[in-house]
Amino acid sequence: MACPATSHPIAGGDLIAIDQPGAGRPRPFLISIVLPCYNEDQVLARTSERLTRALHDLPHEIVYVDDGSTDGTWPLIQKLAETSGQVVRGVRFSRNFGHQAAALAGLREAVGDAVVLMDADLQDPPEVIGRMAEQWLQGWPIVSARRATRHGETAFKKSTAYLYYRLLACLNDQPVALDTGDFRLLDRKVVDLVTSFGDKELFLRGAISWTGFPETSISFEREARGGGTTKYTLRKMLALSRAGVLTGSAALPLRVPTYLGAASLVGAGAALAFGRIRPAAPLAAFGAQSLAAGVLGEYMLGVFRQVQDRPHYLVMERTEPDHASAGTEPAARLKELA
Ligand code: UDP
Ligand code: MG
Repeated sequence: MACPATSHPIAGGDLIAIDQPGAGRPRPFLISIVLPCYNEDQVLARTSERLTRALHDLPHEIVYVDDGSTDGTWPLIQKLAETSGQVVRGVRFSRNFGHQAAALAGLREAVGDAVVLMDADLQDPPEVIGRMAEQWLQGWPIVSARRATRHGETAFKKSTAYLYYRLLACLNDQPVALDTGDFRLLDRKVVDLVTSFGDKELFLRGAISWTGFPETSISFEREARGGGTTKYTLRKMLALSRAGVLTGSAALPLRVPTYLGAASLVGAGAALAFGRIRPAAPLAAFGAQSLAAGVLGEYMLGVFRQVQDRPHYLVMERTEPDHASAGTEPAARLKELA
């Protein structure tokens, strides 16, 4: 099976050869930095310092989302907000709802023309934001940051992440960038779209690539955690992996029984044709059952698409009004309708 992402330009971080929409960004612009935080009091002060240094010549706001921390994270965010003027804001969840929910909340809170989503533990270096902003200013609505190397992570984490990204790329209906977490910059248009989706299963990077807006990537060295330990427990990683497969590639897994059933029935037919009744009978029985499961899968897929409730299409751009056609009949009709 061809893996779409490996042949897709974004997987290699090259530019996509299409007209770049959205060039000519608003000036002055504002970039929002969104950081979901769960028990990050050991590192947050340093994160804030490095952000301030890295962003000194970029007009920005910083939005911390405290995902139900039980340590000193919230008082720290309050202090950062008080001493920063208008630049730092914080919101606090009533309990731990998970990183994806906190990221979504941050995207909704942010008011910038572009929003950067990043981890609070300095594994996503703030210094990379300037390079992302450059790409955005050149017209890219999505700039993802690809991990060239990963420091300070266990062999288990590195190898499972490596395999998972590749599995997702093979299964997903849309191309997904390899070795790329949620560290990315999104143009306001993309933020507005993704925050308006009704997804209950959250896998933001999948929803973002689903929009199909042009995406470029830059690569960076993923550093070791600046302090504290991982807040992504194995259970949370598994939940995220499940959401990734479910939201982006429902069709393929649900169709496996259909393919198996059809192949078994063909096998049974061939066995019969060669007078081999013995293998034909169990193959036919398995094929029929598997096909029946496949039919159920098709209905489940229909129900899943219905509850996922994403739009049928997204319009990325419209042509500018053609002044030469002013005064013609269609132009007059359009004006009436407007
Ligand atoms: N995080 C969160 N809620 C959670 C788990 C994690 O907001 O339930 C945040 C965490 O504070 C960090 C980011 O998500 O800013 C990534 O988590 P972590 O660094 O622990 O994951 P890892 O890098 O180990 O995969
Ligand atoms: Mg981390």
